[in-house]
Amino acid sequence: MALSANSSATELIEQIREFEPAIVAIADAKARKQVEREISGSKLRTEIVGESARLAEVADVVVNGVVGFAGLEVTMATLRAGKRLALANKESLIAAGPVVAPLRRIAGAEIIPVDSEHCAIHQSLRSSQNVDRDVAKLLLTASGGPFRGRSRDSLQSVTVTEALQHPTWSMGPKITVDSSTLMNKGLEVIEAHELFGVGYDAIDVVVHPQSIVHSMVEFRDGAIIAQLSMPDMRLPIAYALEYPSRSANSFGAIDWSELSRLDFEKPDRDTFRCLQLAYEAGRIGGTAPAWLSAANEIAVETFLTGGVKWVEIPRIIEATMQHHDGLIPESVEDILQADRLARDWAKKETQN
Ligand code: MG
Repeated sequence: MALSANSSATELIEQIREFEPAIVAIADAKARKQVEREISGSKLRTEIVGESARLAEVADVVVNGVVGFAGLEVTMATLRAGKRLALANKESLIAAGPVVAPLRRIAGAEIIPVDSEHCAIHQSLRSSQNVDRDVAKLLLTASGGPFRGRSRDSLQSVTVTEALQHPTWSMGPKITVDSSTLMNKGLEVIEAHELFGVGYDAIDVVVHPQSIVHSMVEFRDGAIIAQLSMPDMRLPIAYALEYPSRSANSFGAIDWSELSRLDFEKPDRDTFRCLQLAYEAGRIGGTAPAWLSAANEIAVETFLTGGVKWVEIPRIIEATMQHHDGLIPESVEDILQADRLARDWAKKETQN
């Protein structure tokens, strides 16, 4: 029905030819012109627009896989239209939790998480008839990233290439760097709090290098329900599309003769300080998670372009958070303002 991209015109044109969607959004003006030129010369009836928020007008389910804070528009537009949001973009919920929450009460509006951990929790929670009463703890699993087990000293000079070597998941550069710092897990703790309404004391992180157990829920009687599968993002995407049914496609069953063990360990919160910073921002609430996420985006971008070392990422975020003004957001404008302020401070901190 609808497709969107930031600037990948060539791929988008191929997909338009294959799927003939009613509407296509492409944010980058130059790339949009290229797509328009290509389509106007063909028999295709696809409408080309700039705003990805327009997708919610025609689609029943919107998969939001935009990278970073830019995903907020899609999140808001989908919920406002009373549609299902299959959410892969965690930053929109983390930065704008207090503003997004009331939209979830709109008739038809619902969020089904695509983030594999939250998708696993969503599945595990279905084993209880009374989630508010029964849940004792959410246990988010983390692969630990490429630097699991490394000391702080040995991480002083890691390169971009090393940070982009994720052991189990194949993902974009921003989230892969976030996995290497454990900020991804920190953001997911806040995401879990926003999605499931569980307090920070009842959300734990367990390192599980095989990425087979995608997360777990501990209930008040001590029972733990987990979701296990091969690490393949197509499964959570299909889950969010088909819920409450199961997809007819199999994305690979676990071969128990190959899988000999599942390991679990505590995260190293001193070496991977980003995890702790995320818990702190989550507990402060208000615009603190928006600041954290924005500062992290700047720090990661700067790292990816060679401007700062990997070990500087938590330092930049922590220094930025020192300027947080404690604003309680009441509108999208408040969130946008928080995002801008945090980015400005973070940019200054990358120079220090
Ligand atoms: Mg995840």
